[in-house]
Amino acid sequence: MAADISALDLFTIGIGPSSSHTVGPMRAARRFSEQLAGVTALARIEAHLYGSLALAGKGHGTDRAVLLGLAGELPESVDIDAVPARIERIRATQRLHLPDGREIAFDERHDLSFHRTGSLPAHPNGMRFVALDGKGTELLARTYYSVGGGFVVAGGKGEDDRTAPSSRALPFPYATGDDLLRMARESGLSVSEMTLRNEASWRPEAETRARLLGVWRAMQACVERGCRSEGTLPGGLKLARRAPHLFRELTERPEAALSDPLTTLDWVSLWAMAVAEENAAGGRVVTAPTNGAAGIVPAVLHYFARVHGGADDDRIARFLLTAAAFGLLYKRNASISGAEVGCQGEVGVACSMAAGALAEALGGTVPQAENAAEIGMEHNLGLTCDPIGGLVQVPCIERNAMGSVKAINAARLALRGDGTHRVSLDRVIATMRQTGADMSTKYKETSRGGLAVNAIEC
Ligand code: SF4
Repeated sequence: MAADISALDLFTIGIGPSSSHTVGPMRAARRFSEQLAGVTALARIEAHLYGSLALAGKGHGTDRAVLLGLAGELPESVDIDAVPARIERIRATQRLHLPDGREIAFDERHDLSFHRTGSLPAHPNGMRFVALDGKGTELLARTYYSVGGGFVVAGGKGEDDRTAPSSRALPFPYATGDDLLRMARESGLSVSEMTLRNEASWRPEAETRARLLGVWRAMQACVERGCRSEGTLPGGLKLARRAPHLFRELTERPEAALSDPLTTLDWVSLWAMAVAEENAAGGRVVTAPTNGAAGIVPAVLHYFARVHGGADDDRIARFLLTAAAFGLLYKRNASISGAEVGCQGEVGVACSMAAGALAEALGGTVPQAENAAEIGMEHNLGLTCDPIGGLVQVPCIERNAMGSVKAINAARLALRGDGTHRVSLDRVIATMRQTGADMSTKYKETSRGGLAVNAIEC
C-alpha cells in the first residue's frame, strides 16, 4: 500500500464550527489565492459554493472561512480572537487583501454565491473559484472538494492536487481491520506500535511523539476554555452554553460522587460538550476526525488520563495513534464526511476511534481493540445529519456526549470478551458506507430533513 495520509492528518488543530464546511473551504480558498501570485490584470474573484456547502454553509461559517482563506489565512494559524473584526472590515470596505499584497474589490453579495440547487460531480461539498480581469474575462479557475475532516482535493483535470497518493512504503501497510489483525499476529505488536513505526516514514519518532502531545495539549486547552466560557452560542438558536454550569456543579459538590458512581459519566459528558461548544462558537478545536465530532476522542482520552491514571506521555501518544489507525480505515474505505454518509461518518467514526483506542489503552489485545472499534460504529449505523438551522449545535453538542459514553461502553464490552465476535470491523465499515450511499440527501448535512425541519429555529 502506498501511503498518502499520516495518522497526524486526522488530528489537525483548526477552527470551528465545521471541518468540512469551515476548515476545508478556508484551506481551498487560501490555496486558490496562492495560485494567483503570477496572475496579472486581476480585478475580481468569484467564489461559488455548491451542494451541502451552499445549503448548510451559512450556519457552518463557510462564508467567513472563504473570506479568510482568500485573505491568506489558514485554520491552524488564524488569530481566532481577531476573526470577527477581520470579517467586519472586509464586509464594510468590500476590499480583500491577498497574500501577495495586492488589494482587490470583493462584494460578498455578488462575488460569493450559494448555489442551493446545484452540485458538482465528485462530492457534495464542491467549490469553484474564478479570477477575472476588469472586463470580466476569466484568468484562472479552480474546483475543489472539501471531503471531510478538513481534507481538500482539487477537482478539474490538470488542476493542482496536493493530496495525490505518494509512493511512501510503510512497514505495516494495513488498509483494513483484517490487515491490522493479521499484522499484529505476525509481528506481536499493538495497533499503536505498528502505527508509530508507520509514522517514521514521515518524520523521526521523537517528532511524532512531540506533535501528538501538542494535539493533546490543544485538546486540554479546548476543554479548559469550554468549561469556563459562559454565554450564548452564535446563531439563531440562541443556545446557552451548558458546560460551564455542569463544570460548576461537579466541582462545587464533589462529595455527590460518593453516592452516585455514575458521576464519572457526567464528567465525560462535560469534557465532550465543552469541546463541542467551543467548536460551535468558532473556537480553536482539534479535528478528531472532524470538527462536528471533535469532543469524543478528547472526552474519552480525558477519561483515560484522569479516571484510569493514564496521563503519562507515552500512554497519551499511544491512545491517539490507535484512535488514528481506526480512523484511517474509515477515511480509506468509507467516509468521514457528514455530507457524504451522514453523522455516522462523524460521531460514528469518532466513537469507533475512541472505543478502539480505549480498549488498547486499558490493556486489551488487538482483537479486543478491533472489537471495540466495531461496536462503536455498529450502534451508530444509520445516524443521520440534520442540524437545526444549519448550525453545529443541535443535535451535535449532546451527540458528542452520547458518543463518548457509548465509546467507553463499547470498550468495556469488548474487554469483557476475548476478541471473537460475529461482525468484523471491515463488515461494519462496508455497511456504514452502503448505508450512507442509500441515505436520502436530506439527511446528509443539508438541514432539509429530520430535526432540522421538525424543530423550529427561533
Ligand atoms: S449532526 Fe453530526 S455530522 Fe451533522 S453537523 Fe452535527 S455532528 Fe456533524
